[in-house]
Amino acid sequence: RLLADVIPPNDIGVTFDDIGALENVKDTLKELVMLPLQRPELFCKGQLTKPCKGILLFGPPGTGKTMLAKAVATEAGANFINISMSSITSKWFGEGEKYVKAVFSLASKIAPSVIFVDEVDSMLGRRENPGEHEAMRKMKNEFMVNWDGLRTKDTERVLVLAATNRPFDLDEAVIRRLPRRLMVNLPDAPNRAKILKVILAKEDLSSNIDMDAIATMTDGYSGSDLKNLCVTAAHRPIKEILEKEKKEQAAAQAEGKPAPALSGSADIR
Ligand code: ATP
Repeated sequence: RLLADVIPPNDIGVTFDDIGALENVKDTLKELVMLPLQRPELFCKGQLTKPCKGILLFGPPGTGKTMLAKAVATEAGANFINISMSSITSKWFGEGEKYVKAVFSLASKIAPSVIFVDEVDSMLGRRENPGEHEAMRKMKNEFMVNWDGLRTKDTERVLVLAATNRPFDLDEAVIRRLPRRLMVNLPDAPNRAKILKVILAKEDLSSNIDMDAIATMTDGYSGSDLKNLCVTAAHRPIKEILEKEKKEQAAAQAEGKPAPALSGSADIR
């Protein structure tokens, strides 16, 4: 059941080059995470260089937090373990404590590994929630205990990367265990242009597309919104071709002629 949530580094399919903009966040992650995951022995000599075992990525939805976590794992050659409330509620209902224990144990066995906790606020939110279920409380405690075990072992090549859109809903105890917090913000126009370039890098584009103009018109768009915009735009010519073909067939039928063949090599740019 748990192995289904593990992605080996070669299968993750996201690298830092797939992420447009966010240069500062990418540089900090490379410096903070990748070397300690690959060469932990270099960081164990003094107190100040201890490898970082917890990083929080926070910011609005769709800004690339999951992509960043995946890219870190890919580039560090680490297994990516995605843990989420939805996995607990769907596959491990009532067994959250067991699930968390199994995740940490597996993560050390297959180290180097990155445990990615998406929507960490829903999993490890403020503890003083009065209606909190006993099973949920136990699961959170189990998480903390295992996480602390990890933090005391300097050579353990396991990192917890957490992401949230609601950093203020996090428990103090969780915040303390995430000493580095990186803001992943909505992109401004020049950064939207960079993201568009990355999203469209492998597409066969017509030469008159003004990427900067699109970037200027998309104020408030996240990377995810830009991706959706591109997908919608890419589907438009397909729709137009199908509509044109339908009209041609209807016209031919009306005239009693054989229906024209469907075009196999239409230029959809
Ligand atoms: P959420 O908070 O909703 O979980 P998120 O911050 O984790 O969102 P991602 O899941 O990483 O966002 O991004 C969603 C999709 O948006 C990605 O799969 C990608 O297609 C696109 N995207 C977002 N940011 C970028 C970016 N900086 N460069 C390229 N693509 C991006």
